[in-house]
Amino acid sequence: MGTIVKVKCTSCGYEEELRLGCGIRDNRLEQVSEYFGDKQKEEINRLVKKNITAYTWNYRRGIGNCEHCKRLKEIPVLLVLSENGERKIIKGDCDCGNHVTVLLDWESEEILCPRCNHILFREETGYWD
Ligand SMILES: [Zn+2]
Ligand SMILES: [Zn+2]
Repeated sequence: MGTIVKVKCTSCGYEEELRLGCGIRDNRLEQVSEYFGDKQKEEINRLVKKNITAYTWNYRRGIGNCEHCKRLKEIPVLLVLSENGERKIIKGDCDCGNHVTVLLDWESEEILCPRCNHILFREETGYWD
């Protein structure tokens, strides 16, 4: 089950509702690959589907800060751990096509406003699946 997080900036008034974590259907790799662009899909194929040393994978949505949209976006992220301990992170782009930095540990870290860099007030408003 994913978490719905509402963020609000007390300085400039920016607010957003984000659906983070993962849904109940997101335990299948076929489903999860659909959230990524062609380039990332290829990488997922290469790293997980066709790779016998791929040990485990973990999918969730993090918070992307898109400098182009000046908004926070839900960005799909796939963490792949191979048998030899190698960690690889495959992350999606913003839907505008821009590369974004993604905050995965949003539960413990501060979330900054994409417009004025102020620390955002956050509230967990529910769950989604
Ligand atoms: Zn702000
Ligand atoms: Zn964008």
